[in-house]
Amino acid sequence: AELPIHTKDTSYKVFIGEGLCSKVGSLLPKQYNQVFIITDSHVANLYLNEVVASFSSNVTVSTYTVPAGENSKQMDWFHECHTFAIESGLERSDLIVALGGGVVGDLAGFVAATYMRGIDYIQVPTTILAHDSSVGGKVAINHPQGKNMIGSFHQPKAVIYDTETLATLSHTEWRSGMAEVIKHALIADHEMLEQCLELPSFDSISNATLADLLKKGIQVKAAIVREDEKEKGVRRYLNLGHTLGHAIEAESGYSSITHGEAVAIGIDFALFLSNKQFPEATLPIDAYRKWLEKHHYPMSSKLKEYSIEALMEKIKNDKKNDRQQIRMVLLSSVGEPTLASYTEKALMDELIEFRSEVR
Ligand code: NAD
Ligand code: ZN
Repeated sequence: AELPIHTKDTSYKVFIGEGLCSKVGSLLPKQYNQVFIITDSHVANLYLNEVVASFSSNVTVSTYTVPAGENSKQMDWFHECHTFAIESGLERSDLIVALGGGVVGDLAGFVAATYMRGIDYIQVPTTILAHDSSVGGKVAINHPQGKNMIGSFHQPKAVIYDTETLATLSHTEWRSGMAEVIKHALIADHEMLEQCLELPSFDSISNATLADLLKKGIQVKAAIVREDEKEKGVRRYLNLGHTLGHAIEAESGYSSITHGEAVAIGIDFALFLSNKQFPEATLPIDAYRKWLEKHHYPMSSKLKEYSIEALMEKIKNDKKNDRQQIRMVLLSSVGEPTLASYTEKALMDELIEFRSEVR
């Protein structure tokens, strides 16, 4: 299938289907003389050869592999990618290919945004989570003081999503990715939420159901990005669960918990706050908790491992805040996201109460 993505200045396609890794070279929107593929150590072992072989012999292909994991979204690796691109003779008119999950996508996308003031790139996502990260053009690396602190907006020229690659994902990566899927359902689509809540164990989801959910998630994101590419308004809704989620990730050193697992706890907290703000609303709080339990997510009780003060420190640094207030995405009902502002003290009290309530 092909899904169109539109922003004010550009349009591109998301190709989604099986066996697309071997077609990357032929699905490009135009001819490039040289391509520079950035990938990580896990994905390189599994899919790099296939993608390299998809380019015709008159294209010069160079590859660069960073270690797998969130810690590669970092200044040192960003710099290494630039060095290698220069050494390979990559030019302004050439192409960068991001082959991997959200880490590689964010890193390679930011390299493309900055190399020679910006060159073309495409996303070749290989995780469930990357149905989210590969679309919309937000690219970034982390700073020790906060996640995604250094980055820009740089839309890819295409997204080529081979769903066959998802067969090799671990249980942890399934959980991480499905958290963003259910996030898209919660902010936009009642039926999609029902579909998520009814899923059997992740092991037994059919390829067709997974592809259907990923397409729906991409469409939710596409509609929001079309309206608000630079996150001045509705795009903020996509941060549901992310304020606390990012704080948990940063506190855990980007290692002991995945992005999606941290966001899943953040969504639980957002539902808790939503329920207080909108007591009349029928929010799927219990159903959501059951879903987390059923799929073996780290539950919100994990918050007891962290210091509230330390989490609040990270939350205050969040880019989404204005000076005085902390802005949270809440739901007034399923499909109806809204923003609410809290003072630091008020949010801290809520977090303490939430932490003491959760099992
Ligand atoms: P990831 O890229 O680290 O991938 C997770 C793990 O799975 C890694 O170990 C990777 O090597 C491995 N892997 C990747 N594809 C595989 C495959 N097909 N088979 C087996 N193993 C595979 O992490 P992720 O969860 O894909 O992405 C998380 C990142 O995405 C975070 O840094 C987050 O901030 C970012 N993100 C960005 C946006 C955005 O809009 N730019 C949105 C959401 C998340
Ligand atoms: Zn996310």
